[in-house]
Amino acid sequence: MRFKLTNNNSIGVRLIGFALLVVGISACSREAPILNGATMGTTYSVIVPSLKSSDQEVLQSLVEAALSRVNTAMSTYQADSSISRFNNSRTTDWFVVPTDFAYVTEAALQIASATVGAFDPTVGPLVSRWGFGKDQSDAVPEADEIDGLLEQVGYKSLQVNIETNSLRKSSGDLQVDLNAIAKGYAVDLLAEAVADLGYVNFLVEIGGELRVSGKNSDAQAWRVGVENPTSGAAGKDDPPIGLLLESGGVATSGDYRNAFESDGVRYSHIIDPRSGYPVSHKLASVTVVADTAMYADAWATALMVLGPDEGMKLAESHGLASYFIVRADEGFVTFSSAEFAKLARSP
Ligand code: ADP
Ligand code: MG
Repeated sequence: MRFKLTNNNSIGVRLIGFALLVVGISACSREAPILNGATMGTTYSVIVPSLKSSDQEVLQSLVEAALSRVNTAMSTYQADSSISRFNNSRTTDWFVVPTDFAYVTEAALQIASATVGAFDPTVGPLVSRWGFGKDQSDAVPEADEIDGLLEQVGYKSLQVNIETNSLRKSSGDLQVDLNAIAKGYAVDLLAEAVADLGYVNFLVEIGGELRVSGKNSDAQAWRVGVENPTSGAAGKDDPPIGLLLESGGVATSGDYRNAFESDGVRYSHIIDPRSGYPVSHKLASVTVVADTAMYADAWATALMVLGPDEGMKLAESHGLASYFIVRADEGFVTFSSAEFAKLARSP
């Protein structure tokens, strides 16, 4: 059995009152104009409270250009993207890639080294074999097959030079997978597109990963909610944790969004590259707030791999604002790092 949830029907980050905002646009002129559409297997939205109608069209085309730039460079789902070409090539020479691709790879390698390989942008062969790549499958691999694939994985075999925008693999079969970080980077590019038009107040979002700047249409800091997993469950209605933000990016990584079940065992799309197996601890989701959506995205996945104990320890030692939702015998328990607790408000 395979289940793939979108952000709209899963635990995750949402805008408090977002639905209200959407239905309220035509009825109430003070509501923020929204541009939206589909990208990266999910949806995006751009909210700019004081958007001039004369800027609407140019903003839409800047947003679409940014999204297409990211996909053309880093989508493993596009056969002709730079990342697919790099992955299909067996050369161990320097390989020139678009600037964005080199930049995101460098950030991914930083997090790989900070987590000693719990986050690993070369995890692709394992992700594919576990059926979470382009071709989806529920067939659980044998242990010796995992061992073989582990030989193909290792962030130390990947080098990047951001002066020359090039990448080099030290073994021909190395694959790069930036799916845990590229969506956040795309969110940052959307923010840049809005800022370049001179706006300081906006919220941009792709599939629940977001970046905010300034104030909302009520001239207040943006209110972002991290849903409590018991919200809406029968007999329980715990409110979401609220965040008040005037800058920064927010991302959530969870083991529930994309997973399959086989013989009563649930296998998630978050793979621990150190063992070769999907994570199997009790951490259900991690939300991270960081200066950029790219770092929030990557750290959320990284902490998700590390699990509740090691993850929180690393979050505290790096001063990361992170919020963990952990499965308990009954329901869930939540933990906030010190930095996250400073941002959290009752909704
Ligand atoms: P989402 O799918 O909601 O964007 P993530 O940001 O956590 O969630 O990204 C998950 C994707 O990251 C997986 O589909 C896979 O391609 C990749 N991935 C899985 N495990 C790791 C890992 N240990 N390090 C880096 N990337 C990973
Ligand atoms: Mg991520």
